[in-house]
Parts: sequence; structure tokens; C-alpha cells
Amino acid sequence: MPIRVLEPRVVSRIAAGEVVERPASVVKELVENSLDAASSQISVEARGGGVSLIRVTDNGTGIPSTELELAFQRYATSKIANLGDLESILSLGFRGEALPSIAAVAQVDIVTCAAGEKAGNYLSMKDGVRINQGSQGRSQGTTVTVRNLLRNVPARLKFLKSPATENSHIANVVSQYALAFPEVKFTLSTDSRTVLRTPGSGQLIDSVIEVYGLEIARNMLAVSSEEGGWEGGSTFSSLQVTGMVGSPTISRSSRGYLGFFVNRRWISSRLLAWAVEEAYHGLLMQGKHPVAIINISLPAEEVDVNIHPTKTEVKFQNERLVFSAVQKAVRRALIELAPVPKIEEIATAYRAPPQQSQPFWAVPETSYHPTSPPPVAQPTPVLSLPTLRLLGQLSSSYIVAEGPEGLYLIDQHAAHERILFEKIQQQSSQKEVEVQGLLEPATLEVTPKQDEILKTHYVNLAEFGFSIEPFGDRTYLVRAVPVLLHRKDWAGALKELLDSLSAEDKGDWREKLAISLACHGAVRAGKALSDDEMRELLRQLEQTATPNTCPHGRPTMIRISSGQLEREFGRN
Ligand code: ADP
Ligand code: MG
Repeated sequence: MPIRVLEPRVVSRIAAGEVVERPASVVKELVENSLDAASSQISVEARGGGVSLIRVTDNGTGIPSTELELAFQRYATSKIANLGDLESILSLGFRGEALPSIAAVAQVDIVTCAAGEKAGNYLSMKDGVRINQGSQGRSQGTTVTVRNLLRNVPARLKFLKSPATENSHIANVVSQYALAFPEVKFTLSTDSRTVLRTPGSGQLIDSVIEVYGLEIARNMLAVSSEEGGWEGGSTFSSLQVTGMVGSPTISRSSRGYLGFFVNRRWISSRLLAWAVEEAYHGLLMQGKHPVAIINISLPAEEVDVNIHPTKTEVKFQNERLVFSAVQKAVRRALIELAPVPKIEEIATAYRAPPQQSQPFWAVPETSYHPTSPPPVAQPTPVLSLPTLRLLGQLSSSYIVAEGPEGLYLIDQHAAHERILFEKIQQQSSQKEVEVQGLLEPATLEVTPKQDEILKTHYVNLAEFGFSIEPFGDRTYLVRAVPVLLHRKDWAGALKELLDSLSAEDKGDWREKLAISLACHGAVRAGKALSDDEMRELLRQLEQTATPNTCPHGRPTMIRISSGQLEREFGRN
């Protein structure tokens, strides 16, 4: 066959295939149009899995009567005008492909009334051709009805799943946009049953309650990146991360509860999923996934949304920056917000009974009475750990133990770090560090920057058991190391410390050194431990002052209470 240019009808059918994969894709495009039209109410109706009917009604700006037909032409859009606009897209649509693509594979009726117009207008399309047009009363807004979707493309229709499955995809699209736009009232009904209704209050938590239910909503933590944006290398960007994440107690067994929105566009992103899961590192059991709603807002020119016809993938100019901003914001929410009640829970449950109870005649501190005895101090809450019974080891990384209140999963590395950190601090403050002389002095080569720091600190390092002396050009001789790090990567620990210090750092180098030594000395994740070793670790952890976090502030353990277990197994 000779080469020839395809007929417009064939072209539009091919193009439709890129946009309309399944009924949920139609819902997504129509809802995006309603959102772009600044609607405050959007209702979605689907029948027969969306094949028989999809109807999206909004109260947005509407389409002016003079533009109605144009809206169904390929590449006709009101959202961008020139090449420059492509660089900074803020609307959800911009390709001008959705309406013509849907009309190429379905029967479409649209009724719309634009602001300022007295009457509404309707237009009916079938197989991409106009079959009817006229005026019709309607309040401001737009209703698009799509019937017999993909009936003229049997090859694609064949690939659709059961109506129930297609309905669930539709519900997912509407749910995700309801989470992204809490200020918009959404309703969704499938086969005449209302399955979702959000209040449009503007509060994310209200959408979460409707979409995921109370149980999840109760366990959500607010995420917000620090004010003032993020600094990454030399580029400064006003990147903001907001949203909510689930506390580790409500983990799920699929990634279906991860929602990402970039400048309010719902996208799928492995990068962001990875960033969130990284933030939960050590908090979730293997095979479990978090619940998260992550909104990223950043200057439109820093993200390319035009890489796929469905606009569900984006390309960030600075992926590393976005990754770390998301990871940090989520981690912060988990560490700063979640462990507090958890630790208190453990503390209040297992706190030693107060030595002395408040005598009944004690008066409040504020009322002055010269003869009344001083008020009895309340016992300071201690972050104590109950005695735990070892059950075993999970993934060669977590110690599984039973306590009076349920199941404890202890991160062996983080826990050991905590133990060593406190031991190192105590030994160095009492000048009792156990030192191991090396059979032969070792040389330590450092970078110019590390050299600057080491020059001022090598003498002080003796306090921690290092005997170090300068040995010419950026080289030092190490004669002894702390016992703790013997046969371990002490050079790595030293270099990590040097990298984390700056020349002006006077105050906290001791703590940083203790952290770095503890980290390098601690047993790694992935190492199988004997029962005796694990019992010893638990016993030592019970003895630490702050058993719940490692020196970096990450949790050392998670607790699953007996109550939670009962709930999970549906016993109450
Ligand atoms: P795009 O959204 O990429 O511009 P579409 O084919 O989805 O392309 O829509 C074409 C145009 O029709 C839009 O640019 C917009 O002007 C108009 N339009 C579509 N749906 C609506 C709606 N619900 N409310 C107002 N205008 C709409
Ligand atoms: Mg659109």
C-alpha cells in the first residue's frame, strides 16, 4: 500500500484510543473539565459500568453558545493559546482532545449555559458528527451525557471488565478528585445508588471521612512542608507539600490508598510512591502500604504535564528535590505527630506507680498559705518499656515480642543504635570509654574539607576512644579505636562525622559523634540474630532512658495493641 494521510475520522478514532481507555477515563476528563470551569458542585452518574451511561453535571462557567460546536473539534481549547502557555499549565485540561475523543467513540449530548447568557444550548453528537443542536433552558453550568461508550469499537469494549469493576474505577477517579478538591461538593451515583457525597467544606478531613471512612480519617496526620520552600543544591524552589497521611496503624495491603496531586492534578508517580514509602521505613510491616494524600504545589514551569495524552504522568524538573521534600514532610508528620500519643500511651500504661499520692489536704499551688506543705510533684512521665517476651525475628530485621498490651515490633538496628548511643554518652562523660589498641596503626586519608575539621577535633576524639595523630598531607595515623567499633567500620563513622560537622561547629560535635558511632556500631538490618542475642538486646533496650526512638529521632518500635488485633480480626 502506498503511503497516504489518514482520513480525519480514522485519525480521531485512533486518537480517541489514547484518551478513552475505559469508562473511568471519560469520567476523569469530564470531571477535569468541570473543575477547570470553576464548579463548586459536580455530580457524576454512571450506569452499566459507565458503558450505558455517564453523566457529569456541574455549575461551572458553562460554554458560550458561539463556542459549543468548536469544543468538539480536535485541539480546540480555551485553556492555552500559544507555545509559551505550554510551559506553565495550571488548568487540568489543555490538549483540546477530550470532548472530540469521547464523541468519536460514543453518543454525546451536552447542555450548557454560560455566565451572562439567558438560555442554555444543547448539542448532540454521534460517531463524531453533529446530529442535533438548539437552545434549551438550563441554569449556569454544563451537563455532558455519554451513552453507548465504545460500542463502535468492539475491539476495545472486549477488554473492559465487569460493570462492577468498571464502576470501581469510576469511583476511584471521583474519590481522588474529591480528595484533591475538598471545597467542591461531589456526588457519585452508580446504577441509581449514591456511593459518594462530599460536603465541599474545604476541609480535607471531611473528604477523607466520606472517601475512606471514619476509621481511617481518625488516624490521619496532617502533612505540611516547612514554610519558605525547599533549598536543594543551588536551586531554590517554592515547593510545598501538604495533605494527610495515615498513622502506621492503618496500613493497607495495596498501594490503592496512595493519592498524589501535583498542582491539584491527580497523577500516578512511582517516584512519589517511593518517597512516601521511604518515609514509612521501619514503621510498616513488609507488604503493607500506607494511606496518603499528598498535594504538591510548585511553579508550573517546574513540572511538565504534557508527556502523555491522559495527563496522568508528569515529569519534574528536579526529581531529587521533589522526592526529598515529600519524604521529609511525610516523615516529619509521622515522627512529630504520631509517636507522641503512642509513646505517652506506652508510658502511661506502664509507668511505675507514683511513690506518693497527693495528700487530700494539699492545696493548689496558686493559693498561698504559709503553713500548708509544698505541693507534691507529679511523677515525671517516664518513657519506660515494659518487660517484653521474645517471640522471634522477622525478615532478619525486626524483633517480634509480646508485652502486656500487645505485640511489639522492634527495629533491631534502631534499637541497638539507641542502646549504644546512651552507652557511648555515658562512658565518654565518665571518661570510661573502652579502648582497643590496633595491632598496627592504620592510616586515615581524608578530603580537604574533612581535614579542616579533623585538624581541630582529633585531640578531642580521645574522649571517645580514638587515638589519632596527624601524619602528613591529609593523612592521619589511628592507633586505637573504641572497643565498640573494633572490627567495624570506624573509618566510615569518623568520615560521616566529619561530613556532618562544619568548622564553626563547636557545641554539638560530641552528640553527633555519639550518633555516628552508635549508627556504625549497631547491628545491621538483615542480620539474623540468635534468641539469646535478641533477648539481650531487649533487656538493654528496656534499660535505656528513651527506648522509643533511635538517636536520629526515628521510632525503634511499633506496637500493635490487643484491641487493634481484635478489630483487625473483626472480633468486636
Ligand atoms: P481541554 O479541556 O483540553 O481544553 P476538552 O476537549 O476537554 O479540552 O474541552 C474543550 C473545551 O470545552 C474546553 O477548553 C472548555 O472551554 C470547554 N468545556 C468543556 N467542558 C466544559 C465544562 N464542563 N464547563 C465549561 N467549559 C467546558
Ligand atoms: Mg478537558
